Amino acid sequence: MLDLTLIPSIGATLPELRVNRHWIGGAFVRSGDAAWSERFSPSHGTVVSRSAVGTIQDSEAAITAARAAFDDGRWSQLPGKARATVLLKVADLIEANTDRMALIETLESGKPITQARGEVSGAADLWRYAASLARTLHGDSHNSLGSDILAVVLKEPIGVVSIITPWNFPFWILSQKLPFALAAGCTCVVKPSELTPSTTVILCDLLQEAGLPPGVVNIVLGYGQPVGATLASHSDVDMVTFTGSTAVGRGIASAASITLKKVALELGGKNPQVIFPDADLESAADAVTFGVYFNVGQCCNSGSRIIVHEDIAEAFTARVVELSKQVAFGDPLDPTTQVGAIVSPEHGQKIDAYVTAAAKAGATVALGGKLLDIPGLTQQFYQPTIVTNVTPDMAIAREEVFGPVLTILTFRTLDEALALVNDADYGLSAGVWSENVHTCLQFARAAQAGTVWTNTWMDGFPEVTFGGVKQSGLGREIGRYGLDEFMEIKSLVMRIGRTRAPWVRPR
Ligand code: NAD
Repeated sequence: MLDLTLIPSIGATLPELRVNRHWIGGAFVRSGDAAWSERFSPSHGTVVSRSAVGTIQDSEAAITAARAAFDDGRWSQLPGKARATVLLKVADLIEANTDRMALIETLESGKPITQARGEVSGAADLWRYAASLARTLHGDSHNSLGSDILAVVLKEPIGVVSIITPWNFPFWILSQKLPFALAAGCTCVVKPSELTPSTTVILCDLLQEAGLPPGVVNIVLGYGQPVGATLASHSDVDMVTFTGSTAVGRGIASAASITLKKVALELGGKNPQVIFPDADLESAADAVTFGVYFNVGQCCNSGSRIIVHEDIAEAFTARVVELSKQVAFGDPLDPTTQVGAIVSPEHGQKIDAYVTAAAKAGATVALGGKLLDIPGLTQQFYQPTIVTNVTPDMAIAREEVFGPVLTILTFRTLDEALALVNDADYGLSAGVWSENVHTCLQFARAAQAGTVWTNTWMDGFPEVTFGGVKQSGLGREIGRYGLDEFMEIKSLVMRIGRTRAPWVRPR
């Protein structure tokens, strides 16, 4: 047990050390080789959880349990109503457990407690929406193929799904995938990030209490190698859905190609917001500030690339600098904090290296650009940072920095702005700010992105599907399209009556 350690910055004490085990076939199990990893709170530097480190054998045991649960139909053959009933109960239980789940999420990830509470309770709505899909999923019928033919297109659960998730929104991203896979009738093996496993494991208690049959969801803790790699390549897995970096996503697609399993990938982004002079500039400046610092910039949808019209660039930048200074960076356990810690010291160094390289290449660091020293906390905080005089070829303008760092480019015409927007390897999201509806619609049609926001940023709903184009990913999550990812299509063609003419002619 951890000594209850005082957090001097807010006079609070840390809860007891959380211990996480794999969950396979409906039971918590230790690792085959009994190895453990420890997670330090990025903000407080104290160990907050201890988790089993999975082996190839642990991963295979989980896949075997999911395969057996799928093949005997204990979940896939239940009526949609029965599946929906379980998902709705899980949603209620998530809400009832929001506080304890949010606390460990904050301690493992460094995100502010108010944000963590919002993500956990908001995730309950994803489970409720998926429950509604379980009851309404259907295929198509073809009733106009001739008087003696009726064809139907059936949707069937794809089978065993591997779910591999990152550390930046651990429970939210799990809930963008798992309830949809379950609504479809699939069984699953989940591997959370080794940095943030606890809320995924807490969910096991809730799934059990809600009445999910054993083996339908299995969890293996540990690292990409060997756990993630086994889940991506095993021949008994029918699909792998992954959220994480583009580099690892490429490896997963390649591992999955050996058995040609279906792959869904939600990857990185370098998301632009274009600001026209006729926009509501006060709202735009606020949304830009939110877009870049939310989750300390460790967000696939981070609005890290701003493209501002030349006429307003100076005044707009000054306003964003002013707003940036007012954002509350601090202890994530303090309910007034808006922005917390960077996930690891190595990641902090990576962020700093981008800023240093840009400054060396001639860019101007208009704000920040250094570690943020907060008394009583770790060195894993980074100042709100704005970099101007950036050119489109600089790494800071093209690559995913994944930190609280905004780069500002300028444009003169819509075509020029669109050329900058689309000159990117990524295509996750893009935004435009203008009071002119024609400008917004032209932008929305031409921007190469899975989501376009006009006069807003990062608004999302369970009903509205999400995903990327180009190197931001493959496939879609949430919404009805998100459910379809977990379904196989089967065509059924039926002849009515004995009207089929024989193919073999009597000789
Ligand atoms: P990551 O790619 O390092 O890790 C993601 C997961 O993959 C972890 O569980 C990790 O253990 C596992 N993994 C690592 N190597 C593996 C391998 N060889 N085979 C199988 N699994 C392996 O990503 P991260 O650092 O955890 O998350 C940050 C990245 O996620 C960023 O690039 C971000 O843009 C992206 N992201 C994308 C979205 C989206 O919806 N598009 C959402 C959130 C995060």
